[in-house]
Amino acid sequence: MTEKILVTKSSMPPLEEYIDEIKEMWDTHWLTNMGPKHKQFQVMLKEYLSVKDIDLLTNGHMALELTMQALDIHGEVITTPFTFASTTHAIVRCGCTPVFCDINENDFTMDSSKIEELITDRTAAIMPVHVYGNVCDIETIEHIAEKYQLKVIYDAAHAFGVRYKGKGIGSFGDASCFSFHATKVFNSIEGGAVCFTDAEFGRRIGLLKNFGIHGPEKVETVGPNAKMNEFCAAMGICNLRHIDDEIAKRKNVVEHYIERLSNVEGIRLNQKQEDVQTNYAYFPVLFEEDIFGANRDDVFEALAKENIKARKYFYPLTNTFDCYHGCFDVSRTPVALQVSRQVLTLPLYADLPLSDVDRICDIIMKCKR
Ligand SMILES: *Cc1c(COP(=O)(O)O)cnc(C)c1O
Repeated sequence: MTEKILVTKSSMPPLEEYIDEIKEMWDTHWLTNMGPKHKQFQVMLKEYLSVKDIDLLTNGHMALELTMQALDIHGEVITTPFTFASTTHAIVRCGCTPVFCDINENDFTMDSSKIEELITDRTAAIMPVHVYGNVCDIETIEHIAEKYQLKVIYDAAHAFGVRYKGKGIGSFGDASCFSFHATKVFNSIEGGAVCFTDAEFGRRIGLLKNFGIHGPEKVETVGPNAKMNEFCAAMGICNLRHIDDEIAKRKNVVEHYIERLSNVEGIRLNQKQEDVQTNYAYFPVLFEEDIFGANRDDVFEALAKENIKARKYFYPLTNTFDCYHGCFDVSRTPVALQVSRQVLTLPLYADLPLSDVDRICDIIMKCKR
């Protein structure tokens, strides 16, 4: 039996490097609450991501929720259904109403030509997603936000290390939220961050992530516990030392996939974007059944039979989740619906052997009729 291939494999530093990084905690007993590792990781990230300011949180989801809270967002938030549950749930859990904008067929981000028609007098913000690490139509979104006085919160969970026109992807909008979950390009086991420019926003995030506590006898606002602990920060510090290497290795894997799967009739690949330095976060493939002869589910099953776990990412759309049954009209996001039915993300991680990529592509090509 050939070995199981999962869709991703978490990056880890050499064990000795991590042990070295956490050793001093056995002297200090400082395990959480913005300790030295937290501070160091924050400084390193600010530099690596080329952003003005950043704060660290337990995970990417709390980054989204606390950002909504810090910006005092109420009412409707224009967003995309072609994303992970977290984006939509964050809006709903903050008491707001998601308004779903369709995506474009080229890079699967929000179709910026369809945003304005969704704006009402209740619209407070736009929450686009740099899905698969693809950069949203930042210029148009900023223009619309300015015209209608809306806040922009980017879900940048997929976009760690991505640059647009030479700038860090976290430097756009009112805030950009990153996830350092184990399955992402860059991880701190669990973790997240929000990038921003406004100092008052930063002050509010700092309060919110620690129960709103301002001082020993002063609680200023109602917040949860969303602090990153020292073990996660230490993992982040170690992984950050290797990130360029990891992304370079991912690039090799992706280029091999492209070599094998481009110019296959009925297969559509993620297009390279202009002015973007990518992070090779995912390898989505779209299967057009009428041309390829097999559909996405057929390919998914064929791979599963060989112990290869691809992922229907993103299927189903968030606006069709059971928990939102009857809340949204999915016919208003037809492109997203179509893409969600055709897409499969293939296994991709830094040390995925090219021979495995070949095996995966062979199985896919056998499905073609
Ligand atoms: C992973 C992810 C999140 C949530 O991040 P966590 O760190 O897992 O909480 C949010 N949005 C998108 C698009 C994601 O992929």
